[in-house]
Amino acid sequence: MTAIVVVGAQWGDEGKGSLSDVLSYDAKLLVQYGGGGNPAQTIAVEGNRLVFDVLPPEPMRRGSTCLLAQGMAIDPKLLVEELALLDEHGISKGEALVCRRAHAILPHHILVDELRHEEEGASGARRRGIGPAYADKLARRGVQIGDLSSDKLGDKVAASLAGWTTIIESLGGTAPDVGAMTEQLRAFGDRLAKHMTDGSVHVAAALERGEHVIIEAPFGTMVDIDMGAYPYVIAATTVAGGAAPGVGLPPTAVTRVIGVAKAYSTRPGRGPMGSEVTGDLAKHLIDKGQEFTQDGRPRRVGMLDLAGLRFARRINGFEELYLTKLDVLSGLAEIPVCVGYELDGQDLDEPPIHGLSRATPKVEMRPGWTESLEGCRVPDDLPEKARDFVRFVEEQVGAEITMVGVGPDRAATIVKKSPFAF
Ligand code: GDP
Ligand code: MG
Repeated sequence: MTAIVVVGAQWGDEGKGSLSDVLSYDAKLLVQYGGGGNPAQTIAVEGNRLVFDVLPPEPMRRGSTCLLAQGMAIDPKLLVEELALLDEHGISKGEALVCRRAHAILPHHILVDELRHEEEGASGARRRGIGPAYADKLARRGVQIGDLSSDKLGDKVAASLAGWTTIIESLGGTAPDVGAMTEQLRAFGDRLAKHMTDGSVHVAAALERGEHVIIEAPFGTMVDIDMGAYPYVIAATTVAGGAAPGVGLPPTAVTRVIGVAKAYSTRPGRGPMGSEVTGDLAKHLIDKGQEFTQDGRPRRVGMLDLAGLRFARRINGFEELYLTKLDVLSGLAEIPVCVGYELDGQDLDEPPIHGLSRATPKVEMRPGWTESLEGCRVPDDLPEKARDFVRFVEEQVGAEITMVGVGPDRAATIVKKSPFAF
């Protein structure tokens, strides 16, 4: 039995979904433990590209069971739409489950997000009501997925809305009608009833049967509500330790943690980013790495932040790392990397949580390579300079790089050591 946590070591979008997908060939159960889902996962079906923001389509197609666990905040409307899309295209061999204790994103949560005119929040997450739903969870007036089938639903929706009405009105909006909202939510509850489960019990039983379970964390370490650069964080836990409360497992159930990091940095939202770059290098990373947000704006990009990865290794306890998007660095004569920071005359091995915007990154240049990596499938296929780069990252971070991503295609992965090879 193996319970593997897949955790983002940077700001999100590292390739966690790609890794979960690769691992779910061997594991039957794939669990997401927090956030609102992994946005913009695409799947090609008969020439169409279908986009999913909650359910992972490739593992569902292959027959994995996909559980949305209790730590998540889920838009029931979106989930119902995605289930319909899977049915319509006949692509779902797997089972979709949602924990009754997961929180429901309600229509007024989305309304509040839309009325707040900022282009994007601190985390860069799209304004889909996730933050307000977590705010309700902490304020103890949230509505859980299991409540959608309860005869108290109307009262619960009214209690949540009462907490937002003044805010909605002060932002120039109109509070939605409780009755109509309740009716719509109840219909979603009816549709979701057969997918609802007690996630904690379900996962414990799978582990008891000796099955492999993959638990995917949301976003990345640097935007964790406790460990990130507050307030430029998301409303939830993103680090490996969150898998226990996020799924309903004891911490001892987790047997392995795999960190995922890009070979450079990206950050979707606001807030300090120590190794940020602009100019030609930024253009190269954005163009080759296709670093655009879902609404088409270029992401902020930066050098690989090895100090950040040391921090992520310490916090998440990973000893192995999946380094993605190494192919994006092809064609750079020299590759600058951030190996530490200096702040107020002090050398730091990890980014300072306070004062990062004043800290100076210590930059080291590594030799680049010109060859395309997309056809590489085993470590020996990599050009010598690319292997040097991988070894340098391993030494600096103190974790073994067991897998390397060399292209957007899921097959473009070098697996040095399979997590299931024991
Ligand atoms: P997540 O948000 O951390 O789950 O990241 P995803 O797995 O969704 O990956 C984000 C994007 O990066 C997807 O479009 C992937 O196709 C792409 N991607 C993942 N790994 C690689 C890689 O090694 N090379 C390249 N070029 N693209 C990759
Ligand atoms: Mg993603």
